[in-house]
Amino acid sequence: MKELKITPIKNGTVIDHITAGYAVKVLHILKIPESTSAVVSVAMNVIGKSGKKDIVKVENRELDPKEVDKIALIAPRATINIIRDYEVVKKHRVQVPDQIVDLIHCSNPTCVSNGREPVKSRFHVICKDPTRIKCYYCEREPEDIAAQVF
Ligand SMILES: [Zn+2]
Repeated sequence: MKELKITPIKNGTVIDHITAGYAVKVLHILKIPESTSAVVSVAMNVIGKSGKKDIVKVENRELDPKEVDKIALIAPRATINIIRDYEVVKKHRVQVPDQIVDLIHCSNPTCVSNGREPVKSRFHVICKDPTRIKCYYCEREPEDIAAQVF
């Protein structure tokens, strides 16, 4: 089978091996399109070596560690490729952290982290792939993590 060729970018980030169907959620995490003038390319349901995947390329933008952690939560097999002058200068797989602090909302509206007190949301990771997390305060497990990401 022929692999889809993605046109190279000069500078920016290629997020590869995104769980198929999650490219749009990744764009949401990166606050695209609201806050960007960058050129963004999205490929969905590309057939790769290990099945279907999505790919997002963002020109002239590198990701901050919080964005990478958020992507890890919804696409634990994603790889981040930093491109400078057409070369991949850094490539790494995302890593789901053991503790998730201040990255996603608790799905329990009465949780202390959703109250008026300045309490940052905090989750324990029970399983990394597929990701399952549990609120540190109320022990609720969000069913749709992607929907709760800030
Ligand atoms: Zn909670």
